[in-house]
Amino acid sequence: AKKQGKRRFQLFSPAMHTNVTRRLIMESNLRKGFQNQEFVVMYQPKFDLATGKVGAMEALVRWDRPDLGMVSPAEFIPLAEESGLIVPLGEWVLRQACLTTKELRNQGMEDLVVSINLSTRQLLWQHDLASMLAEILTECELPPSALDLELTESAVMHNVEGAIGTMDDLRQMGISLSLDDFGTGYSSLKYLKRFPIDVLKIDRSFVKGLPDDPSDVAIVISIISMARAMGLKVIAEGVETIDQLRFFLHNEVDEVQGFIFSRPLVKSRLAHALRESEDL
Ligand code: C2E
Ligand code: CA
Ligand code: CA
Ligand code: CA
Repeated sequence: AKKQGKRRFQLFSPAMHTNVTRRLIMESNLRKGFQNQEFVVMYQPKFDLATGKVGAMEALVRWDRPDLGMVSPAEFIPLAEESGLIVPLGEWVLRQACLTTKELRNQGMEDLVVSINLSTRQLLWQHDLASMLAEILTECELPPSALDLELTESAVMHNVEGAIGTMDDLRQMGISLSLDDFGTGYSSLKYLKRFPIDVLKIDRSFVKGLPDDPSDVAIVISIISMARAMGLKVIAEGVETIDQLRFFLHNEVDEVQGFIFSRPLVKSRLAHALRESEDL
């Protein structure tokens, strides 16, 4: 019995204990943090390779905790999904991002488009999604063409028919749709053909190995040619090196996004970066 007790005790290594504690603290504080306005939206420019200018930006949310510092969305978005907080949080991100976009459009970036990530729950179970979006666009005096929604392949595949229904509605409103993290999920080409989307985003996991890894090269080239054949725009995310940028210039993707150009920026720094790109 003594032995067993000891073994059971060892199941909780110090590292595990820390992870469990951290998760519990985060769960119970997520809602409080939202009420205390601890969330910030940052923006990462997307460069249009044809014009050499910033045509769009992706809104990325962060949780700036007084005790823990910046918490990555990769960590708290799943918790927000589970607890349902994603609905008010998602609406807040949408409103912030649209307000910022309106401000920047007023400052001369007339055609600026903002991309916003939608979670599985928002896409599949938030029944007032379309009316909420329409309301925010009206409130911010933005045309629907200023908005692009990034949907992950796994969210769409979770309920293909349901997702396609909502996607049709959103597109009919004039909002553009991007399929995010493309290639990491399980969608077959049969489905891809049916998705009412405008843009394919090549996932960073394939970009990482470019231009040296022959299988990444093969995958990325086939994604690009497939997207082109289907009349879709292609964006590469996670572009970090000059050689990767050269690869995408050579293979003619429409837009690139990544640390080589800019990390996600707070609103004030973004305005500055955008003006610089206009002066190029
Ligand atoms: P994602 O949509 O695939 O976003 C791209 C992630 O890659 C971002 O991480 C971005 O900061 C990072 N990134 C951009 N360029 C580079 C690069 O050159 N190198 C590297 N190593 N990383 C790069 P982030 O901001 O931590 O976001 C992680 C994920 O959290 C996002 O992945 C997205 O799925 C989710 N997320 C972020 N904001 C929101 C949001 O407002 N709503 C929802 N539902 N999900 C969000
Ligand atoms: Ca995204
Ligand atoms: Ca992505
Ligand atoms: Ca990704």
